[in-house]
Amino acid sequence: MQTNLKKSTLYNGDIINGVPVITQLNLDDLVAGKIYRFMFKGADMNIGQSWYVPVIIAKGVNAGAKLLLNTGIHGDELNGSRVIQQLFATLDPNQLSGTIMGVLQACPNSLMHISKNWYLSTDGGDYVNMNRTFPGKLDGDSAHQHAYLLWNNLWLNNVDYAIDLHSQSTDTIYPLFVFADYRNPICQRMAELIPADQIKNDEGEKGTLETTFIEHNIPAITIELGAARIYQSDYIARSIEGIHNILIEFRITQGECEHNAHKHTSFVGNEMLSIRAKVGGYAEILVQLGDEVSAEQIVARQLNPFGDIICQYTSPIAGKVLSLGTGATREAGGLLVRILFNK
Ligand SMILES: [Zn+2]
Repeated sequence: MQTNLKKSTLYNGDIINGVPVITQLNLDDLVAGKIYRFMFKGADMNIGQSWYVPVIIAKGVNAGAKLLLNTGIHGDELNGSRVIQQLFATLDPNQLSGTIMGVLQACPNSLMHISKNWYLSTDGGDYVNMNRTFPGKLDGDSAHQHAYLLWNNLWLNNVDYAIDLHSQSTDTIYPLFVFADYRNPICQRMAELIPADQIKNDEGEKGTLETTFIEHNIPAITIELGAARIYQSDYIARSIEGIHNILIEFRITQGECEHNAHKHTSFVGNEMLSIRAKVGGYAEILVQLGDEVSAEQIVARQLNPFGDIICQYTSPIAGKVLSLGTGATREAGGLLVRILFNK
C-alpha cells in the first residue's frame, strides 16, 4: 500500500489557462533551480466540476528548508495574496537553498463568495469556517474533503515551516498582527522576525492550519494583515520584509535581517479580550488601533435609529487596542473593540 512518504507528483493531464493540473505533489520530483506553477485539484462541486488551487513553487538550486506561504483560507481576506505575488516576483531559484511554496487561493469556494466561510450547497446551503477543518476528512462534506486534499496531497511531507496569511474579517480591522505559539521557540523566533505592530503569544485553536502544523511538529505562525477585502501596501510590505528575514533565518536565502519586531517595538501580549455588542444598533468606536486604554475607559457606544445612546461600553482591563469593528451597524455579538494585554 502506498504511504504518504512514497507519494509522487501526479499530473492528471488537464491544463487550465496554460497551467498544468496536479492531484498530488512531491517536491522531490521537481527540478532544482526552477519556478513552477500548478493548479491543484481540490474538492468537487455539486455540478460535477472541481475547485482548483493555484500553487507557485520556487525550488532552489541547492537543497534546504521547505517553507509554505499559504493564503485564502478565508475568502474575504486578500492582503496575503499580494504578499505571495510580490515575493515570488523577486525570487531567483538559482539563489535559493531550499524551496518556497506559495498557495494563493487555498479555498476558492470562499474566495468566489468573498466570504469568510466555505459554502455547502447541501440541503439549501450551509457555511463552514475552513480554519477549523484541518487536517480534514476524506468522508466529510466538500469543505472537509477539500481540507483533507490540501493537507494530505499538497502539504504533507512538503513543508518544514508554515506561514498562514490572513486578515481580520469583513467589517473589522487588525493592524499588522501575528499569532504565534511561544511554547515552540521556533514559532516565537519566526514571529519576532516580522516587523508587526502587535504579537499574541497564543496556544492556537484545534482545526486551524497553524495549530494542525504544530501538532505535526512543523513550526507555524499566522500573520493577520489589517482589514478584509482590500490591499494595504504598508502591511503587505512589512510582511514581505518579515518573510525575507525568515528566509535568511532558515538559510534559504542570504542577507541581513534589517527590520524585525524588536526594531519596530512590536507589542507582545498573552491575553486578548473582545468587547462585543450587547444589543443591535449603530456603533461609534471611541478608540483607534494601537491606542493604550485604561480600565473603565469608555471605548464604544451604540445608538438607536433616532441617535439616542442605548449602550455604552467600557474596557474592563488596561491594554492596547488590537482590533476594531468598523461596520457602523452592529447586532448583538458583533465585535466593537478587542484589547491585547498581559496577564
Ligand atoms: Zn482568516
